[in-house]
Amino acid sequence: MMLLDSFNSLELGHELHEFAARLYPIARSITGNGIRETLALIGQRIPLQIVEVPTGTTVFDWTVPKEWNIHDAYIKDPLGNRVVDFQRCNLHVMSYSTPVHATMSLAELRPHLLSLPENPDWIPYRTSYYKENWGFCLSHKQMLRMEDVEYEVCVDSTLKDGHLTYGEYYIRGRSTDEVLISCHACHPSLANDNLSGIAVATFLARLLSTQDLRYSYRFLFIPGTIGAITWLAQNRENLRHIRHGLVLTGIGDAGGFNYKKSRQGDAEIDGAVAHVLGHYGGAAEVLQFSPYGYDERQYCSPGFNLPVGCLMRSVWGKFPEYHTSADNLDFIKPEKLSESLLVCITILNVLENNQRYINLYPYCEPHLGKRNLYRSTGGEAIGPEINARLWVLNLSDGDHSLLNIAERSGIPFVLIRDAANILSEAGLLSVCYGDAGAERRLPYSPGPAPKPPLSAEQLAAETSHHTKVR
Ligand SMILES: [Zn+2]
Repeated sequence: MMLLDSFNSLELGHELHEFAARLYPIARSITGNGIRETLALIGQRIPLQIVEVPTGTTVFDWTVPKEWNIHDAYIKDPLGNRVVDFQRCNLHVMSYSTPVHATMSLAELRPHLLSLPENPDWIPYRTSYYKENWGFCLSHKQMLRMEDVEYEVCVDSTLKDGHLTYGEYYIRGRSTDEVLISCHACHPSLANDNLSGIAVATFLARLLSTQDLRYSYRFLFIPGTIGAITWLAQNRENLRHIRHGLVLTGIGDAGGFNYKKSRQGDAEIDGAVAHVLGHYGGAAEVLQFSPYGYDERQYCSPGFNLPVGCLMRSVWGKFPEYHTSADNLDFIKPEKLSESLLVCITILNVLENNQRYINLYPYCEPHLGKRNLYRSTGGEAIGPEINARLWVLNLSDGDHSLLNIAERSGIPFVLIRDAANILSEAGLLSVCYGDAGAERRLPYSPGPAPKPPLSAEQLAAETSHHTKVR
């Protein structure tokens, strides 16, 4: 799409990557000071509301866990060398490891060591949130170097009553109908699975905050699974406002896009994302909903069944770097981050502008030529703009949205939207508000002009003014 070319700025990509790099060293988990520090850095860029939920709070079938904080962890050989050192890489300690300080043989230590023989240079990322245990993750090469001697083993952590922390940012639009954007912020030094979503969502929120918006937007930066469950439990009364939603994760790597549809499968967000990915010009796949994955699992649980899909590049678990130290800052690319941001904006542009119209001249084609809306020389092929006008006029019966028309015609949404704006200005179309079936038979009266679209050009201009990383 043309939108993409005008926006695909490497500068923006570098700013996104720099933000991910700033967050990368923080030892995050589902609770504790790592996620607080992360939210504080996001909060320097957008006005984030921080929510603390006490340990022991019941959230549906779950309980908010104890708060975990990690200060240091190591395995020292008899000479005092740290052969495994949390200070070098925070993935070395299994998340939620309980405190330990002991001397033990390699045989005693071995059940607590985790490595990846198939990728011997990489450190795995492992957690034990709901079973008290401790462990070290190390490269298989490190593991093979360990000799049969006594080791000093230390996990200097605390696991006690505290809070689960999440961040929320609400942008009020003209309607109280909401778009939910959610990303998890609980993984330590993992770039694609965690930081790419956080960076893109933060920048997206900042861009939207400067716009005149049809929808209200709610951004969530939450610990995976338990954070989404906690948020849903605490916001049950307000969920009816959610019209569309996206979980953003794993959108910085070099792979093509993958969109996992909502459980509904035919929600407007599903159509909007599929349409945008079908036209953006790169590799993309649309996947059916499945009950495993990221927090769309919670939003799409049967009691809620919210129209929330998940936008990714490489799919979790299907790339070897997933949940290893190789998901690092080199694995995410500035140009892919900015392209992902642009795709998100393009998707939201569809949602913001998707309306139904009624053709005010439905009996035969209106005379476009006398309104200067047709080509002047008969016999020439019509161009894409005129073709888009014909499609919009033909299908604007109050039943078809602009997205329906874009899909049926194969024409990118942006051209269909432009055609609808021009035809409306010419008095040939009227916006159809509310339920199509109820309104289509009413006497035609031109409603207020549709609000100007959230244009990528405007957003690009805004970006260059507002995205300096503080
Ligand atoms: Zn993960």
